[in-house]
Amino acid sequence: MKPGLMWLACLLAGVLLTDTRAGWQVGVAKADITPTEPVPLAGYSGAARMHVRTDHPIWLKALAIRPDDGPLAVLVTADLVGLSTRMVERIVRDAAARGVSRAGLVLNSSHNHSCPVTEDVLWLYYEFTAEQTAACERYTERVYSQYDAVIAGAIADLGPAELSFGQGLAGVAVNRRRARGPGTRQFGGQVDQDVPVIVARSGDKLRAVVFGYSCHTTALGGLSVNGDYAGFAQLELEERYPEAVALFVQNCGGDANPLPRIRGNDPGADAAALALAANYGRILAEAVSQTLTAPLRPLPATLSLAMGGTKLALEPGLPLEELRERVPQMSGLPKRAFNHFIRQYETEGGLPGEVEYPIQVWRFGPELTFIALTGETVVDYSLQLKARYGWESTWVCGYNNDLLSYIPSRRVLREGGYEGITGMYEYGHRAPYTDDVEQRILTEVDRLIRGPAPPSGGGAGGQ
Ligand SMILES: [Zn+2]
Repeated sequence: MKPGLMWLACLLAGVLLTDTRAGWQVGVAKADITPTEPVPLAGYSGAARMHVRTDHPIWLKALAIRPDDGPLAVLVTADLVGLSTRMVERIVRDAAARGVSRAGLVLNSSHNHSCPVTEDVLWLYYEFTAEQTAACERYTERVYSQYDAVIAGAIADLGPAELSFGQGLAGVAVNRRRARGPGTRQFGGQVDQDVPVIVARSGDKLRAVVFGYSCHTTALGGLSVNGDYAGFAQLELEERYPEAVALFVQNCGGDANPLPRIRGNDPGADAAALALAANYGRILAEAVSQTLTAPLRPLPATLSLAMGGTKLALEPGLPLEELRERVPQMSGLPKRAFNHFIRQYETEGGLPGEVEYPIQVWRFGPELTFIALTGETVVDYSLQLKARYGWESTWVCGYNNDLLSYIPSRRVLREGGYEGITGMYEYGHRAPYTDDVEQRILTEVDRLIRGPAPPSGGGAGGQ
């Protein structure tokens, strides 16, 4: 062989060798967080709802991924209603001690309304006795230790695997702004019924199925612990694929509900609601199974992690004199919110005018851009970002980090109503977001996608 050809052959061999060696390391772990004593249930305000039974266990699940010579990333999914800033800070600190960077840790909650209250999540919703508070504190400590355990477990489980991506479709979500009852103002209702799926395999063994959907987990609202429709879907998938861990990611379901829903305290209504939730879970599981039967797109073993954020501005709040004047006539959650505002005036000299809004972007080369937003994002964020960065190569999820508030789009803000206007007090915010909320978020997502990790080959790149 001529020296020039020899050089070329060596180069090609080197390239081929590098390509065949490049792969993913993947690890999974799960931890049961079903309460073991009576605890107050989360998600709905009003009188404390002490749980009286468990329909099926609830879980924390973690997927650790790392390309050979690439950064470690861990996705943790939770059958919880959400996390608070305080919870996120502690979980992040524990994860950092295990070598997980902030950008590499996505904490998603299914927004399950049939789980226990933890720490100070939605703290204005509840008024507990000392005994109920103590039960919450014991449960919260267990949840912290299980977060640490699943993150450690997934990292310890890292081993060679392949990742692939596909999308299915499930008709469970209905836009709840359209479906409000008679006598209420209704709006045209968009939904995102896509079911994005990431699959991890080691040879023939299916190790993890990560699937997402944009819909509130509010098919149920009784006195039992369960994972709602998302819990049923995970159960169903783990029965169908016994070697795999199924992880549910809540996407942008801020303004979507599974409908119809059945409510009522009698045993008949309770059983009917449970059957309905199980059926929604089966529909979603079936969408995932169908996706798995079609050819999936392999994800190249390349990963870039970006963490950023923006500040969301709030409209002015009520003056202190008006709060003091109105609070004696109030009760329940609104009264607690107003008293909270009065305390802020007294201790901080005013009401905070903006909130922190963290955003993460994980890029799997040109094949997939995974955008993790904070709070109860409405459907427009999913639809707009997929339209901008590629319907087949973009996964947008909300309900990461702290629960924060509803995150309305400009459209939802202008329509008015619960998501974005009247719901803001519940989260302790002085007023609705300013009209530029959507623009601030989209601009920061764009900066994270274009800035730190420019597209390597089109596809997912910012067209
Ligand atoms: Zn919600």
